[in-house]
Amino acid sequence: MTATIVMKFGGTSVADAERIKRAARRIVGKRDAGKRVVAVLSARGQTTDELIQMAEEVSPTPDPREMDMLLSTGERISCALCAMAINDLGHRAISLTGSQAGIVTDASHTKARIIDVRADRIRQALEDDLIVLVAGFQGVSTSRDVTTLGRGGSDTTAVALAAAIGAEVCEIYSDVAGVFTADPRVVPDARKLPVVSFEEMLEMAASGAKVLQLRSVEYARTHGVRIHCRSSFEESPGTFVLGEDETMEHPLITAVTHSTDEARITLTGVPDRPGVAAAIFRALADANCNVDTIIQNEPREEGRDAEVSFTIAAEDLRAAERALEPIRTGLGIAEIDTDSEIGKVSIIGAGMRSHPGVAAQVFETLAARGINIEMISTSPIKISCVIRSDEVPEAVQALHESFQLSLAEVQRERPIGQEAR
Ligand code: ADP
Ligand code: ASP
Ligand code: MG
Repeated sequence: MTATIVMKFGGTSVADAERIKRAARRIVGKRDAGKRVVAVLSARGQTTDELIQMAEEVSPTPDPREMDMLLSTGERISCALCAMAINDLGHRAISLTGSQAGIVTDASHTKARIIDVRADRIRQALEDDLIVLVAGFQGVSTSRDVTTLGRGGSDTTAVALAAAIGAEVCEIYSDVAGVFTADPRVVPDARKLPVVSFEEMLEMAASGAKVLQLRSVEYARTHGVRIHCRSSFEESPGTFVLGEDETMEHPLITAVTHSTDEARITLTGVPDRPGVAAAIFRALADANCNVDTIIQNEPREEGRDAEVSFTIAAEDLRAAERALEPIRTGLGIAEIDTDSEIGKVSIIGAGMRSHPGVAAQVFETLAARGINIEMISTSPIKISCVIRSDEVPEAVQALHESFQLSLAEVQRERPIGQEAR
């Protein structure tokens, strides 16, 4: 049977007419090479941001269902245009919305989760020798409303379709040539990684490396989808995301990531008794706000009030404030402070698991630049520091240099301080 591949083109790769035609040629090239192709497209350029802005211009708190009706149009435009371009190249293409493509989600508007993919229509179209274009980032809920999958969600559409149709690979085409040791926009000498493990890619995506949406990596790991991140502007291979057992290299540190899209909420005067933290974080969970680093300061004297701080995505700040207000009055919390000027830098590497020296080197590197660390969180393969957002670029560059990540020679799991100079 002919092999099927999924090709996903991000916003910059379809930003104007010339780029749409370029993507069309690339898709047709794969078809001519004997593959069946399902292509997933993002909205063009800044379209999604512009649509969000349009909504905010007419309503301070846009209705989430209507927001999804609006946002889903961006990717439909890209698909219809690309289908036209492919038809002009002498091939037959059909564009489908997420709903037509059988992407079924839960009903949490603006960050819905895919719960099923009913790909019969895609399979039939491939049987009929059509190139299938699917609008990314969207689906239809169990209550038959249009939903969207959260920012960057076209990656997840692509991976979910690849899993459903048994594609041999899910290719993610973007403006970068793959997954790098840091965002190449911030660190010009960042190095392209030939392979990265799911475990590391999950941490990278969760800590700000936009190149793949976090859920797409989770989905690929669960369903065994092979991801290849590559450039839509050149042919050379990019980065493969592989299972831990398939990756040959085990670097001490793989990458430095960053995010400036987060905010911090601090609750002061929090009653110090069992159940209070549970009530706070239950309210946030029910409002669908994903909480990251959490710090609770124990009061020095028993029974006196505690302080709780945590970070969340900046886009969830308003929803979190709304969810916390009734809790504040109900529990007698003194104050809720917010801070949108925070940023986070993280260092990720499967090899750091058994190397406590990594943390010391991170803190020393930031201290040497006079960068103050406000919060710290860790996982076995990640260290994250919350700092001021305007200090993020310098922190990323300093850590990248300190751990010598631009060197082609991979640092093995050697004790810190003994790495090759
Ligand atoms: P697309 O619109 O194609 O989905 P995104 O903007 O979502 O592309 O993701 C690609 C961007 O991710 C790049 O332009 C780059 O600036 C950013 N990025 C952040 N961290 C990394 C990294 N470690 N490797 C590659 N790209 C990264
Ligand atoms: N267009 C959507 C966004 O900008 C989805 C995507 O590009 O993946 O977030
Ligand atoms: Mg993206």
